[in-house]
Amino acid sequence: MSSLVPALATGGSRRALRFGERSLSYAELAATAGALAPRLAGVGRVALWATPSLETAVGVVAGLLAGVPVVPVNPRIGEKELTHVLGDSTPELVLAAPGAELPGPLAGLPRVDVPDHPTGATGPAAPLPEEPDDEATALVIYTSGTTGPPKGALISRRAIRTTLDALAEAWAWTGDDVLVHALPLFHVHGLVLGILGPLRRGGSVHHLGRFEAETVAAELAGEGTMLFGVPTMYHRLAEAVGGTQAGDGDGESAAALAASLGKARLLVSGSAALSRRDHEALLAATGRQVIERYGMTETLMNTSMVPGGACTPGTVGVPLPGVELRLVEDDGTPLPAGSDVVGEIQVRGANLFSGYLNRPEATAAAFAEDGWFRTGDMAVLEPDGSVRIVGRRSTDLIKSGGYKIGAGEIETVLLDHPGVADAAVTGEPDEDLGERIIAWIVPVDPAAPPTADVLTAHVAGHLAPHKRPREVRFVAALPRNDMGKIIKRALVPEK
Ligand code: ATP
Ligand code: MG
Repeated sequence: MSSLVPALATGGSRRALRFGERSLSYAELAATAGALAPRLAGVGRVALWATPSLETAVGVVAGLLAGVPVVPVNPRIGEKELTHVLGDSTPELVLAAPGAELPGPLAGLPRVDVPDHPTGATGPAAPLPEEPDDEATALVIYTSGTTGPPKGALISRRAIRTTLDALAEAWAWTGDDVLVHALPLFHVHGLVLGILGPLRRGGSVHHLGRFEAETVAAELAGEGTMLFGVPTMYHRLAEAVGGTQAGDGDGESAAALAASLGKARLLVSGSAALSRRDHEALLAATGRQVIERYGMTETLMNTSMVPGGACTPGTVGVPLPGVELRLVEDDGTPLPAGSDVVGEIQVRGANLFSGYLNRPEATAAAFAEDGWFRTGDMAVLEPDGSVRIVGRRSTDLIKSGGYKIGAGEIETVLLDHPGVADAAVTGEPDEDLGERIIAWIVPVDPAAPPTADVLTAHVAGHLAPHKRPREVRFVAALPRNDMGKIIKRALVPEK
């Protein structure tokens, strides 16, 4: 079978996947994906219509068995982006759940329906090809497109195995864990961590289709042991347990919900920063410290808080086993340990991607001369070695009054203000300062927002004076993508 998922050969009747009422044991998954795999063998690349369904998980496993690169496609993708992804990845066929309606550009490809149960035979319908080399591309995952058009990252089997095993070590993740899952399945978070993660451990995953605080809590009170989520989900959970101003205060159900969440062995957040306030609210209500981890499509996972160890809210923890991490100044000089200067995070390790599809120049530009990967994320190191991300080089680094200022640091402080529901900080050209700091604020109460002066004074009370916003703009909502990332280029043109 596949050495990436040993339990396909050995897991037997243990449950592997559950989506709503439908589930597959390891033996059934092996038979179902094994029957599909021979139809994919020899194909260049296959597109996978990645709805949050059993079929998507089966499709990915079939791709692994066939040794064919799978390109998961966001089912809510717009026509323009779909054309971009298809033109770039040139799949030869598309895998989809039977009956799924495919948009024009995909409907033109030969289609193979993905089965959701074994059809009689207990093994593969035809002999499977030899297991491919560790360096072979297993997945082509498009970046989220937060800073520009999505780029196709070539993810090898080696990178997947490395990152999943590092997470298992850091989180004591075992085959006894049942993951509660409500994320989309076309990014690293939902697919590599959320589907392949449990499968590699021989554990199981229960996908809920969509996120609902009550359902998630009920699962964690039952057989679920861990939850992977994005900050918007944890924010909603924090509200539901009554820990934030926006919580609607039904004390009894909030307490029951908090008790259910408290039963989880592990609550993990990633894809964007979780606010300090939400971290603290959830800890206070549930007794559980949300474990924040940091990764990217190109690197899979880089750092994580350590359960029972380094867990400072506002940081993304420490490098995972096997990941080397350094901070680097603008001119490429690595910052010495213990320096409190902001630098770019660069990483090295077997968790890295193999390059961008069709973009040799972007691939070359993504690596420093000495081979380290440039993440484009800016951070400072805490004395305990935890990484505190302050923002992205391209959109979050503001050069004002001769200082380099990370937007994330100011956002964190703004989010601590009780009148602020959501916040983003950007820089805009300014004759005097070079750039001027703008705060975009979603107030808790739109009828009575805190004044600009109050917010500016709040920031000045916590950070150096040059980090205070020069202008505050109140908005009803911030532009966010489906992983909850703020799309700053919708607020300001990219620098
Ligand atoms: P694109 O590269 O297309 O602009 P993207 O960088 O958002 O989009 P992803 O690879 O999905 O695409 O996201 C990786 C980025 O997400 C990281 O570089 C980092 O900026 C951000 N990120 C991930 N986890 C965290 C976290 N825990 N805290 C802060 N930022 C995070
Ligand atoms: Mg990126």
